[in-house]
Amino acid sequence: MNLEEYRGIWVYLEARDGQIAPVSLELLGAGRQMADKRGVPLAGLLIGDGVEELAQTAFPYGADQVYVYDQRIFADYRTESYMRAVIECVEKHKPEIILYGATTTGKDLASAVATDLQTGLTADTTMLDVNAETGLLEASRPAFGGNIMATILCKKHRPQMATVRPKVMKALEADQTRTGEVIKESIKLAEEDIRTKVLKIVRETREKVRLDEADVIVAGGKGLGSKEGFQLIHRFAESIGATVGASRDAVEAGWVDHAHQVGQTGVTVTPKIYFAIGISGAIQHLVGMRNSGLIIAINKDPNALIFQACHYGIVGDAFEIVPLLMKAFQKEPD
Ligand code: FAD
Repeated sequence: MNLEEYRGIWVYLEARDGQIAPVSLELLGAGRQMADKRGVPLAGLLIGDGVEELAQTAFPYGADQVYVYDQRIFADYRTESYMRAVIECVEKHKPEIILYGATTTGKDLASAVATDLQTGLTADTTMLDVNAETGLLEASRPAFGGNIMATILCKKHRPQMATVRPKVMKALEADQTRTGEVIKESIKLAEEDIRTKVLKIVRETREKVRLDEADVIVAGGKGLGSKEGFQLIHRFAESIGATVGASRDAVEAGWVDHAHQVGQTGVTVTPKIYFAIGISGAIQHLVGMRNSGLIIAINKDPNALIFQACHYGIVGDAFEIVPLLMKAFQKEPD
């Protein structure tokens, strides 16, 4: 493989409900910095049906170009059809790096493309950089239960690829004066070529928990004592417009759904404010929330590990402290 032939940084632009997913715009911010460092263009790759207009969204956020596949066959996301478009585009234009949001779609697509192209993919990256001279992508992520950061390189294959969870990177301030080039692509792909058929789309009826996009999270743990006790977390979260999070032990006790679990086997979150209430601070929990902007812990054990990971700690009984906080937050400012 002639690595020199590969040039340019791409971001897969995920189109969802007529919009570009926020994580794609965040990745354009990270991609822009790396493209400038390398002196190469930053391009978006947009696939869908009726999506061409959305390409314009990418330019204010840093893209120089957007490759667009706007065809009926891409109306619903299917691994086979989308990966065929990505692979064809990669083979034609040869980018050195491709970034994807670590969403359900992004993870599925990136791993399928990596397998087919026999190239490297770093999943759930939390830091991205590029070596200006060698062009090597430095994709860092926590490893061994979050105890170390591993920087992963893909030295022999191209494109180098990484997925990044929402809210880990920062989108650029939109510059509406920036413009770019839309490059229309199309692929010869017939419905008969695709094994997967979408028969029906059933929207989830229960409320979707978007912990990874929440600005404020109120998380509760085993210290709440019971399912009834855990209601305190729901009440507090509701009163301040926060999203409910939980430790694994609270989930395993059946007090709250797994979708709320924060940590190694749950969701990684980076809200502006994270309340950890009745949570001891096990490493498997900390890896999922320690990059939060402000961590406030409430625990009745002054030696709880969570106090080593928080910005503010309150030693006391959650059932006494939380009602006081709720009262204080409801008070009109003087
Ligand atoms: P506990 O450790 O029991 O802590 C309860 C805390 O509440 C204590 O500190 C106690 O002092 C305090 N407390 C008690 N009563 C009160 C009160 N009235 N007011 C205030 N404080 C009170 N855990 C996760 O959270 N997420 C994960 O994704 C995850 N993944 C894991 C993966 C693996 C492979 C393994 C082995 C474990 C994983 N765990 C995970 C479990 C983790 O190790 C801990 O067991 C778990 O986080 C503990 O939950 P907790 O803090 O709610 O409970």
